[in-house]
Amino acid sequence: MDCIFCKIAAGEIPSTCVYQDESIFAFRDINPQAPVHVLIIPRTHICCADAITDENSDVVAKIFAAIPKIAKAEGLTNGYRVLTNCGEDACQTVKHLHFHLLGGRKLTEQMA
Ligand code: 5GP
Ligand code: ZN
Repeated sequence: MDCIFCKIAAGEIPSTCVYQDESIFAFRDINPQAPVHVLIIPRTHICCADAITDENSDVVAKIFAAIPKIAKAEGLTNGYRVLTNCGEDACQTVKHLHFHLLGGRKLTEQMA
């Protein structure tokens, strides 16, 4: 499969990794929208939030358990935002499930 985030998780495409374990991989966004902009992905290919099932959701729990550790390591002591874009209406550009971790400044109130 020609998936850029699968290749990043496998180390075939370089990235700036901030956290990894056997199930998940976290790296800096190439086009940061905030002082801290980390993408957290499952190593397994799940195309988007709409493809999360009872069978594959363990890795999503692992991602959310890692987020506070990553946030702490990034110095996000005053809060942060976690979001995922799913499908065309959300303007998802990379079709491998990823959670944006954004922070390091006061973010806008606007969500959409
Ligand atoms: P989406 O729009 O799908 O929610 O977010 C995709 C994100 O992936 C974007 O913020 C974009 O900057 C980031 N991105 C796309 N290609 C690469 C890449 O090759 N390396 C890194 N580090 N980030 C990427
Ligand atoms: Zn993938």
